[in-house]
Amino acid sequence: MTSVELAGVTKSYAGQRAVDALDLQIRSGEFLVLVGPSGCGKSTTLRMIAGLESPDAGEIHFDDRAVTRLPARARDVAMVFQDYALYPHMTVRQNLAFGLKMRRVGRAEIASRTAATASALGIEPLLDRRPDQLSGGQQQRVAVGRAIVRQPAVFLLDEPLSNLDARLRDELRVELVRLHRQLGTTMVYVTHDQTEAMMMGQRVAAMEGGRILQIDTPMQLYRQPRNRFVASLIGSPAMNFIPARRQDGQWVSGTYRWPVAFAAAASDPGPEAIEIGIRPSAFRLQPTDPQELALSLTVDVVQPLGATALLQCNGLGQRLSVVCDQAAVPQVGDRIEVYVAAEELHGFDAQNGENLKSEI
Ligand code: ADP
Repeated sequence: MTSVELAGVTKSYAGQRAVDALDLQIRSGEFLVLVGPSGCGKSTTLRMIAGLESPDAGEIHFDDRAVTRLPARARDVAMVFQDYALYPHMTVRQNLAFGLKMRRVGRAEIASRTAATASALGIEPLLDRRPDQLSGGQQQRVAVGRAIVRQPAVFLLDEPLSNLDARLRDELRVELVRLHRQLGTTMVYVTHDQTEAMMMGQRVAAMEGGRILQIDTPMQLYRQPRNRFVASLIGSPAMNFIPARRQDGQWVSGTYRWPVAFAAAASDPGPEAIEIGIRPSAFRLQPTDPQELALSLTVDVVQPLGATALLQCNGLGQRLSVVCDQAAVPQVGDRIEVYVAAEELHGFDAQNGENLKSEI
Protein backbone atom coordinates (compact mmCIF):
# COMPACT_ATOMS: atom_id res chain seq x y z
CA MET A 1 0.00 0.00 0.00
CA THR A 2 1.21 3.44 -0.92
CA SER A 3 0.40 6.95 0.24
CA VAL A 4 0.38 9.84 -2.23
CA GLU A 5 1.23 13.40 -1.36
CA LEU A 6 0.87 16.49 -3.54
CA ALA A 7 2.46 19.70 -2.27
CA GLY A 8 1.88 23.03 -4.01
CA VAL A 9 1.13 21.31 -7.30
CA THR A 10 0.31 23.80 -10.04
CA LYS A 11 -0.46 23.35 -13.73
CA SER A 12 -1.46 25.94 -16.31
CA TYR A 13 -2.53 25.62 -19.92
CA ALA A 14 -2.01 28.70 -22.10
CA GLY A 15 -1.70 30.91 -19.02
CA GLN A 16 -4.87 29.53 -17.41
CA ARG A 17 -4.47 27.75 -14.08
CA ALA A 18 -6.02 24.30 -14.30
CA VAL A 19 -4.63 23.24 -10.91
CA ASP A 20 -3.66 25.90 -8.42
CA ALA A 21 -1.07 25.23 -5.67
CA LEU A 22 -2.85 22.04 -4.66
CA ASP A 23 -1.96 20.27 -1.41
CA LEU A 24 -3.39 16.79 -1.02
CA GLN A 25 -2.49 13.83 1.16
CA ILE A 26 -3.95 10.52 0.07
CA ARG A 27 -3.57 7.87 2.76
CA SER A 28 -2.15 4.47 2.13
CA GLY A 29 -4.95 2.10 1.09
CA GLU A 30 -7.55 4.86 0.96
CA PHE A 31 -10.41 5.25 -1.55
CA LEU A 32 -10.35 8.99 -2.23
CA VAL A 33 -12.77 10.72 -4.61
CA LEU A 34 -12.12 14.03 -6.36
CA VAL A 35 -15.47 15.64 -7.15
CA GLY A 36 -16.41 18.97 -8.72
CA PRO A 37 -17.94 20.51 -11.81
CA SER A 38 -16.48 20.01 -15.26
CA GLY A 39 -13.24 21.95 -15.74
CA CYS A 40 -12.33 22.28 -12.05
CA GLY A 41 -9.04 20.41 -12.49
CA LYS A 42 -9.89 16.85 -11.38
CA SER A 43 -8.50 15.04 -14.42
CA THR A 44 -5.42 17.21 -14.57
CA THR A 45 -4.72 16.37 -10.92
CA LEU A 46 -5.17 12.67 -11.59
CA ARG A 47 -3.01 12.79 -14.70
CA MET A 48 -0.22 14.46 -12.73
CA ILE A 49 -0.42 11.68 -10.11
CA ALA A 50 -0.23 9.18 -12.98
CA GLY A 51 2.73 10.92 -14.60
CA LEU A 52 0.84 11.70 -17.82
CA GLU A 53 1.25 15.44 -17.19
CA SER A 54 4.06 17.18 -15.36
CA PRO A 55 3.34 20.00 -12.93
CA ASP A 56 4.73 23.49 -13.54
CA ALA A 57 5.47 23.73 -9.82
CA GLY A 58 5.14 21.58 -6.72
CA GLU A 59 6.13 18.07 -5.73
CA ILE A 60 4.47 14.65 -5.77
CA HIS A 61 5.57 11.81 -3.48
CA PHE A 62 4.56 8.15 -3.33
CA ASP A 63 5.43 7.27 0.27
CA ASP A 64 8.92 8.78 0.67
CA ARG A 65 9.74 8.51 -3.01
CA ALA A 66 9.74 11.71 -5.07
CA VAL A 67 7.98 10.84 -8.35
CA THR A 68 7.41 14.35 -9.73
CA ARG A 69 9.84 13.87 -12.58
CA LEU A 70 9.28 10.17 -13.16
CA PRO A 71 7.39 9.05 -16.27
CA ALA A 72 4.15 7.09 -15.84
CA ARG A 73 5.74 3.70 -16.48
CA ALA A 74 8.20 4.20 -13.59
CA ARG A 75 5.48 5.07 -11.06
CA ASP A 76 3.70 1.74 -10.62
CA VAL A 77 0.24 3.17 -11.25
CA ALA A 78 -2.65 1.87 -13.33
CA MET A 79 -5.35 4.06 -14.76
CA VAL A 80 -8.88 3.43 -16.02
CA PHE A 81 -10.61 6.03 -18.18
CA GLN A 82 -14.18 6.68 -19.25
CA ASP A 83 -13.22 5.44 -22.68
CA TYR A 84 -12.09 1.89 -21.93
CA ALA A 85 -10.01 1.38 -25.09
CA LEU A 86 -9.55 -2.37 -24.99
CA TYR A 87 -7.37 -3.97 -27.69
CA PRO A 88 -10.08 -4.92 -30.21
CA HIS A 89 -8.27 -7.84 -31.85
CA MET A 90 -7.44 -9.56 -28.54
CA THR A 91 -9.66 -11.75 -26.38
CA VAL A 92 -10.52 -10.70 -22.84
CA ARG A 93 -7.87 -13.10 -21.54
CA GLN A 94 -5.25 -11.58 -23.86
CA ASN A 95 -6.34 -8.06 -22.90
CA LEU A 96 -5.83 -8.93 -19.24
CA ALA A 97 -2.50 -10.63 -19.84
CA PHE A 98 -1.00 -8.07 -22.22
CA GLY A 99 0.41 -5.63 -19.66
CA LEU A 100 1.95 -8.49 -17.70
CA LYS A 101 3.56 -9.97 -20.80
CA MET A 102 5.12 -6.60 -21.62
CA ARG A 103 6.58 -6.61 -18.12
CA ARG A 104 7.96 -10.11 -18.68
CA VAL A 105 5.92 -11.72 -15.93
CA GLY A 106 6.17 -15.54 -16.08
CA ARG A 107 3.46 -17.62 -17.80
CA ALA A 108 2.23 -19.38 -14.66
CA GLU A 109 2.03 -16.10 -12.78
CA ILE A 110 0.10 -14.50 -15.67
CA ALA A 111 -2.35 -17.40 -15.74
CA SER A 112 -3.00 -17.27 -12.00
CA ARG A 113 -3.34 -13.49 -11.83
CA THR A 114 -5.64 -13.42 -14.86
CA ALA A 115 -7.83 -16.11 -13.30
CA ALA A 116 -7.97 -14.31 -9.94
CA THR A 117 -8.85 -11.00 -11.60
CA ALA A 118 -11.53 -12.56 -13.79
CA SER A 119 -13.04 -14.20 -10.73
CA ALA A 120 -12.99 -10.96 -8.69
CA LEU A 121 -14.86 -9.18 -11.50
CA GLY A 122 -17.17 -12.04 -12.44
CA ILE A 123 -15.94 -12.12 -16.05
CA GLU A 124 -14.68 -15.73 -16.24
CA PRO A 125 -17.32 -16.72 -18.82
CA LEU A 126 -16.10 -13.91 -21.08
CA LEU A 127 -12.41 -14.76 -21.16
CA ASP A 128 -12.40 -16.08 -24.72
CA ARG A 129 -14.54 -13.32 -26.23
CA ARG A 130 -13.32 -10.27 -28.10
CA PRO A 131 -14.38 -6.75 -26.99
CA ASP A 132 -16.93 -6.40 -29.82
CA GLN A 133 -18.74 -9.41 -28.33
CA LEU A 134 -19.18 -7.64 -24.96
CA SER A 135 -21.70 -5.11 -23.64
CA GLY A 136 -20.50 -1.70 -22.43
CA GLY A 137 -20.61 -2.80 -18.81
CA GLN A 138 -18.65 -5.96 -19.58
CA GLN A 139 -16.05 -3.98 -21.49
CA GLN A 140 -15.62 -1.63 -18.56
CA ARG A 141 -15.18 -4.58 -16.19
CA VAL A 142 -12.41 -5.86 -18.45
CA ALA A 143 -10.81 -2.40 -18.47
CA VAL A 144 -10.83 -2.42 -14.66
CA GLY A 145 -9.46 -5.96 -14.71
CA ARG A 146 -6.64 -4.96 -17.04
CA ALA A 147 -5.62 -2.33 -14.49
CA ILE A 148 -5.87 -4.42 -11.32
CA VAL A 149 -4.21 -7.50 -12.79
CA ARG A 150 -0.98 -5.50 -12.74
CA GLN A 151 -1.25 -5.07 -8.95
CA PRO A 152 -0.29 -1.39 -9.10
CA ALA A 153 0.71 0.59 -6.03
CA VAL A 154 -1.88 3.23 -6.90
CA PHE A 155 -5.04 2.76 -8.91
CA LEU A 156 -6.42 5.84 -10.69
CA LEU A 157 -9.92 6.02 -12.16
CA ASP A 158 -11.17 8.92 -14.28
CA GLU A 159 -14.98 8.90 -14.65
CA PRO A 160 -14.86 5.17 -15.41
CA LEU A 161 -18.62 4.65 -15.23
CA SER A 162 -19.86 7.71 -17.14
CA ASN A 163 -20.56 5.84 -20.37
CA LEU A 164 -22.78 3.24 -18.71
CA ASP A 165 -26.51 3.30 -18.14
CA ALA A 166 -27.79 4.07 -14.64
CA ARG A 167 -28.41 0.49 -13.50
CA LEU A 168 -25.01 -0.76 -14.61
CA ARG A 169 -23.38 2.23 -13.00
CA ASP A 170 -25.05 1.35 -9.68
CA GLU A 171 -23.83 -2.24 -9.98
CA LEU A 172 -20.26 -1.36 -10.85
CA ARG A 173 -20.04 1.22 -8.05
CA VAL A 174 -20.77 -1.51 -5.55
CA GLU A 175 -18.27 -3.80 -7.21
CA LEU A 176 -15.52 -1.21 -7.22
CA VAL A 177 -16.07 -0.53 -3.51
CA ARG A 178 -15.96 -4.26 -2.80
CA LEU A 179 -12.89 -4.66 -4.98
CA HIS A 180 -11.16 -1.89 -3.07
CA ARG A 181 -11.93 -3.60 0.22
CA GLN A 182 -10.55 -6.86 -1.14
CA LEU A 183 -7.37 -5.43 -2.68
CA GLY A 184 -6.61 -2.67 -0.17
CA THR A 185 -4.91 -0.67 -2.95
CA THR A 186 -4.79 3.11 -2.75
CA MET A 187 -7.46 4.35 -5.16
CA VAL A 188 -8.12 7.83 -6.48
CA TYR A 189 -11.40 8.24 -8.31
CA VAL A 190 -12.53 11.27 -10.34
CA THR A 191 -16.20 12.08 -10.89
CA HIS A 192 -18.43 15.10 -11.47
CA ASP A 193 -21.31 13.16 -9.89
CA GLN A 194 -21.74 13.95 -6.21
CA THR A 195 -23.94 10.88 -5.64
CA GLU A 196 -21.13 8.69 -6.89
CA ALA A 197 -18.63 10.55 -4.69
CA MET A 198 -20.83 10.13 -1.61
CA MET A 199 -21.45 6.44 -2.29
CA MET A 200 -17.88 5.43 -3.00
CA GLY A 201 -15.38 7.66 -1.26
CA GLN A 202 -13.94 6.97 2.18
CA ARG A 203 -12.97 10.62 1.87
CA VAL A 204 -14.12 13.11 -0.74
CA ALA A 205 -12.24 16.17 -1.94
CA ALA A 206 -14.59 18.87 -3.26
CA MET A 207 -12.84 20.90 -5.98
CA GLU A 208 -13.48 24.23 -7.66
CA GLY A 209 -11.19 26.35 -9.84
CA GLY A 210 -8.16 24.10 -9.48
CA ARG A 211 -8.33 24.03 -5.68
CA ILE A 212 -9.67 21.71 -3.02
CA LEU A 213 -12.27 23.56 -0.97
CA GLN A 214 -12.85 20.77 1.55
CA ILE A 215 -11.72 17.22 2.07
CA ASP A 216 -13.43 14.95 4.55
CA THR A 217 -15.74 11.96 4.88
CA PRO A 218 -18.86 12.17 2.71
CA MET A 219 -21.12 12.70 5.72
CA GLN A 220 -18.94 15.48 7.14
CA LEU A 221 -19.15 17.29 3.79
CA TYR A 222 -22.90 16.83 3.86
CA ARG A 223 -23.42 17.89 7.47
CA GLN A 224 -20.76 20.56 7.79
CA PRO A 225 -19.96 22.02 4.39
CA ARG A 226 -17.30 24.66 4.86
CA ASN A 227 -18.88 27.00 2.35
CA ARG A 228 -21.79 27.55 0.02
CA PHE A 229 -20.06 25.89 -2.92
CA VAL A 230 -19.58 22.59 -1.08
CA ALA A 231 -23.09 22.85 0.38
CA SER A 232 -24.59 23.17 -3.09
CA LEU A 233 -22.32 20.52 -4.63
CA ILE A 234 -23.00 17.75 -2.08
CA GLY A 235 -26.50 16.37 -1.45
CA SER A 236 -29.39 15.64 -3.80
CA PRO A 237 -31.86 17.26 -4.21
CA ALA A 238 -29.69 20.33 -3.76
CA MET A 239 -29.82 22.54 -0.67
CA ASN A 240 -32.19 25.54 -0.70
CA PHE A 241 -30.57 28.96 -0.34
CA ILE A 242 -32.60 31.89 0.96
CA PRO A 243 -31.10 35.41 1.00
CA ALA A 244 -31.38 37.20 4.35
CA ARG A 245 -30.17 40.55 5.64
CA ARG A 246 -29.45 41.92 9.05
CA GLN A 247 -32.20 44.06 10.61
CA ASP A 248 -32.33 45.13 14.27
CA GLY A 249 -29.89 42.38 15.21
CA GLN A 250 -31.93 39.66 13.46
CA TRP A 251 -31.74 37.95 10.09
CA VAL A 252 -34.78 38.63 7.93
CA SER A 253 -35.96 37.42 4.52
CA GLY A 254 -38.75 39.78 3.40
CA THR A 255 -41.00 39.87 6.45
CA TYR A 256 -39.83 36.53 7.81
CA ARG A 257 -37.56 36.75 10.88
CA TRP A 258 -35.16 33.86 11.40
CA PRO A 259 -34.87 33.14 15.13
CA VAL A 260 -31.25 32.06 14.68
CA ALA A 261 -27.96 33.92 15.13
CA PHE A 262 -25.11 33.56 12.67
CA ALA A 263 -21.77 35.22 13.18
CA ALA A 264 -18.30 34.84 11.70
CA ALA A 265 -16.62 35.22 15.09
CA ALA A 266 -17.45 36.79 18.45
CA SER A 267 -15.16 39.76 17.83
CA ASP A 268 -16.27 40.29 14.25
CA PRO A 269 -19.32 42.38 13.37
CA GLY A 270 -19.94 39.79 10.63
CA PRO A 271 -21.60 40.14 7.26
CA GLU A 272 -24.61 42.32 6.47
CA ALA A 273 -26.09 39.78 4.11
CA ILE A 274 -26.17 36.00 4.26
CA GLU A 275 -27.89 33.09 2.62
CA ILE A 276 -29.74 30.64 4.82
CA GLY A 277 -29.19 27.06 3.64
CA ILE A 278 -31.79 24.34 4.30
CA ARG A 279 -31.69 20.84 2.85
CA PRO A 280 -34.97 19.72 1.24
CA SER A 281 -34.99 16.65 3.52
CA ALA A 282 -34.66 18.81 6.67
CA PHE A 283 -38.28 19.98 6.37
CA ARG A 284 -41.13 18.15 8.15
CA LEU A 285 -44.82 18.48 7.33
CA GLN A 286 -45.61 17.96 11.04
CA PRO A 287 -43.67 19.58 13.86
CA THR A 288 -41.70 17.14 16.01
CA ASP A 289 -40.77 19.80 18.55
CA PRO A 290 -42.58 23.07 19.49
CA GLN A 291 -39.26 24.93 19.09
CA GLU A 292 -39.16 24.24 15.34
CA LEU A 293 -39.48 27.06 12.82
CA ALA A 294 -42.57 27.11 10.61
CA LEU A 295 -42.77 28.34 7.03
CA SER A 296 -45.92 28.72 4.91
CA LEU A 297 -45.47 27.46 1.36
CA THR A 298 -47.63 26.81 -1.69
CA VAL A 299 -47.09 23.53 -3.53
CA ASP A 300 -46.35 24.10 -7.20
CA VAL A 301 -45.01 20.77 -8.53
CA VAL A 302 -45.08 17.28 -7.00
CA GLN A 303 -42.44 14.79 -8.16
CA PRO A 304 -42.83 11.23 -6.81
CA LEU A 305 -39.49 9.57 -6.00
CA GLY A 306 -40.90 6.30 -4.65
CA ALA A 307 -40.91 6.18 -0.87
CA THR A 308 -40.64 9.96 -0.79
CA ALA A 309 -41.75 12.81 -3.02
CA LEU A 310 -40.03 16.03 -4.00
CA LEU A 311 -42.22 19.12 -3.71
CA GLN A 312 -41.35 22.31 -5.53
CA CYS A 313 -42.97 25.05 -3.48
CA ASN A 314 -43.24 28.81 -3.51
CA GLY A 315 -42.55 30.74 -0.34
CA LEU A 316 -40.43 33.61 1.01
CA GLY A 317 -40.58 35.07 -2.50
CA GLN A 318 -38.76 32.16 -4.12
CA ARG A 319 -38.83 28.48 -5.01
CA LEU A 320 -38.06 25.95 -2.28
CA SER A 321 -37.64 22.17 -2.55
CA VAL A 322 -39.12 19.98 0.15
CA VAL A 323 -38.80 16.21 0.47
CA CYS A 324 -41.78 14.53 2.15
CA ASP A 325 -43.12 11.06 2.77
CA GLN A 326 -45.06 9.63 -0.15
CA ALA A 327 -47.84 8.76 2.33
CA ALA A 328 -48.34 12.45 3.18
CA VAL A 329 -48.03 14.11 -0.23
CA PRO A 330 -50.10 17.30 -0.54
CA GLN A 331 -51.90 18.41 -3.72
CA VAL A 332 -50.60 20.93 -6.22
CA GLY A 333 -51.90 24.36 -5.14
CA ASP A 334 -52.16 23.39 -1.44
CA ARG A 335 -50.97 25.84 1.13
CA ILE A 336 -48.78 23.89 3.56
CA GLU A 337 -46.83 24.55 6.74
CA VAL A 338 -43.34 23.07 6.86
CA TYR A 339 -41.22 22.80 9.99
CA VAL A 340 -37.48 22.74 10.43
CA ALA A 341 -35.24 22.50 13.48
CA ALA A 342 -32.90 25.45 14.04
CA GLU A 343 -29.87 23.08 14.03
CA GLU A 344 -30.70 22.22 10.41
CA LEU A 345 -30.11 25.79 9.26
CA HIS A 346 -26.83 26.89 7.75
CA GLY A 347 -25.82 30.51 7.32
CA PHE A 348 -23.47 31.42 4.46
CA ASP A 349 -21.75 34.79 4.18
CA ALA A 350 -23.22 36.32 1.01
CA GLN A 351 -19.84 37.83 0.09
CA ASN A 352 -17.40 34.96 0.49
CA GLY A 353 -19.71 31.94 0.93
CA GLU A 354 -18.18 30.90 4.26
CA ASN A 355 -20.41 28.71 6.44
CA LEU A 356 -20.98 30.87 9.53
CA LYS A 357 -22.86 28.35 11.55
CA SER A 358 -19.88 26.15 12.25
CA GLU A 359 -18.07 29.07 13.89
CA ILE A 360 -20.70 30.20 16.38
P1 ADP B 1 -12.09 18.32 -14.95
O1 ADP B 1 -11.44 16.98 -14.95
O2 ADP B 1 -12.42 18.77 -13.55
O3 ADP B 1 -13.27 18.44 -15.86
P2 ADP B 1 -9.67 19.20 -16.24
O4 ADP B 1 -8.59 18.86 -15.29
O5 ADP B 1 -9.89 18.29 -17.40
O6 ADP B 1 -11.03 19.40 -15.44
O7 ADP B 1 -9.43 20.66 -16.82
C1 ADP B 1 -9.13 21.78 -16.02
C2 ADP B 1 -8.93 22.97 -16.92
O8 ADP B 1 -7.76 22.81 -17.69
C3 ADP B 1 -10.07 23.21 -17.89
O9 ADP B 1 -10.26 24.58 -18.03
C4 ADP B 1 -9.54 22.59 -19.16
O10 ADP B 1 -10.11 23.22 -20.28
C5 ADP B 1 -8.05 22.85 -19.07
N1 ADP B 1 -7.27 21.79 -19.74
C6 ADP B 1 -7.17 20.50 -19.32
N2 ADP B 1 -6.36 19.80 -20.14
C7 ADP B 1 -5.94 20.66 -21.09
C8 ADP B 1 -5.06 20.55 -22.23
N3 ADP B 1 -4.46 19.40 -22.53
N4 ADP B 1 -4.87 21.66 -22.96
C9 ADP B 1 -5.44 22.83 -22.66
N5 ADP B 1 -6.28 23.01 -21.61
C10 ADP B 1 -6.51 21.94 -20.83
